[in-house]
Amino acid sequence: MEQFMKNVVEKDPNEKEFHQAVKEVLVSVKPVLDRHPEYGRAAVLERIIEPERVILFRVPWMDDEGQVHVNRGFRVEMNSAIGPYKGGLRFHPSVNLGIMKFLAFEQVFKNSLTTLSMGGGKGGSDFNPKGKSDNEIMRFCQSFMNELHRHIGPNTDIPAGDIGVGAREIGYLFGMYKKLKNEFTGVLTGKSLNWGGSLIRPEATGYGCVYFASEMLATRNDNLENKTCLVSGSGNVAQFTTEKILHLGGRVVTLSDSSGYIYDEEGIDADKLEFVKHLKNIKRERIKLYTDEYPAAVYTPVDASLDYNPLWNHKADCAFPSATENEINENDARNLIKNGVFVIGEGANMPSTPEAVDIFVDNKILYAPGKAANAGGVAVSGLEMAQNSMRLNWPAEEVNSRLKIIMKSIHQTCLEAAEEYDKTGDYVTGANIAGFLKVVNAMLDQGLV
Ligand code: NDP
Repeated sequence: MEQFMKNVVEKDPNEKEFHQAVKEVLVSVKPVLDRHPEYGRAAVLERIIEPERVILFRVPWMDDEGQVHVNRGFRVEMNSAIGPYKGGLRFHPSVNLGIMKFLAFEQVFKNSLTTLSMGGGKGGSDFNPKGKSDNEIMRFCQSFMNELHRHIGPNTDIPAGDIGVGAREIGYLFGMYKKLKNEFTGVLTGKSLNWGGSLIRPEATGYGCVYFASEMLATRNDNLENKTCLVSGSGNVAQFTTEKILHLGGRVVTLSDSSGYIYDEEGIDADKLEFVKHLKNIKRERIKLYTDEYPAAVYTPVDASLDYNPLWNHKADCAFPSATENEINENDARNLIKNGVFVIGEGANMPSTPEAVDIFVDNKILYAPGKAANAGGVAVSGLEMAQNSMRLNWPAEEVNSRLKIIMKSIHQTCLEAAEEYDKTGDYVTGANIAGFLKVVNAMLDQGLV
């Protein structure tokens, strides 16, 4: 194991997020490999960590002043053993190959857990959409698709949104794909409702994460009613996580963006959440402005000199990190436990550092890793693909009830897989083992390709 990890790091020394994701899976699946020497002979680990294909391309675009800029585009087609590549596109200045590979790797296991037939991929660009005009965003998306269209298709690779890629960007990307290919197919998910999108897709990741947390609480005969929740982020996942917590009788007291966070002791109710949605989705403003509208709330800007995030240092029962990777470190994990938090639902991908995960697992709290907890988004993307193939639109109740069933089934699968390897209640081990087994068995069935 140690030698294997050493080789991974030596091969691509700058991809630290990818190393982190591989190591977590490796530790979890060790008992499976011990029990199945045939996996070792077939080098399944070596094969599963290597992308089937990486596409790296130039994205030139012109700003409103006529200045040309060049960004880098990526698509990592990680694994297609159980279906066409599926995974979002991220537009954020931090995007690099290591981050793309970590996200694509996680996506393989997540998609496997959904019970749907989807392989794993991820893509994006180091383009920063913040402060850009609609026209600049459109020109960038068109240039990005000008290359990407060669590599994707409804039976090959079906991208979706992620950080910085929402309904607006999916619209521009789809428009360009349709023009270049002269076909109207379900090649992207997260589309608008009146041209192929699915009801409940925007809500799915956040809602699904809260359904998963409810399932975990149910194992202790508990529920979300009157629970105080800390939520980070204020984008798609954070908004609909907050909405579902409110539906289920919980109380949300924090939201954030990359500049800082707000703490509203009175709770962020449905009206306040509508204000946040308008602020972030329409006005594209900073979360700080929440306190102009609701002065009882307190805004705290990011302080890079601190070795903890004060957002995670409030009395609460549950925490839903919904912003980005590694946003909860060891100190934050200790603060969460100290403040009474006993439920963690990861809306974001890999938001907790390995040290933080160890603290959650050692304290035997209800900790749901992202690849299980936030799988609702890609699950409903899978349902969007099914509806597109049938040229049908299911009503919201139907999609929502399928989402609930899928999250319940993922929860059950994780519990059973963990139990089989004497790790009862450890959702990290359960998610990794269950996701891994389905993919590697499919790879072995399909021969050495
Ligand atoms: P959005 O772009 O809608 O929102 C992201 C939010 O997180 C914003 O509030 C953003 O603040 C904040 N954020 C982003 N980067 C950082 C950073 N480096 N430091 C602090 N805050 C940051 O993205 P989503 O809500 O879609 O995605 C959030 C997380 O959920 C990501 O980890 C994503 O991979 C994961 N996820 C998303 C799915 C989906 O369906 N959308 C599915 C599964 C997982 P600011 O506005 O200042 O940038």
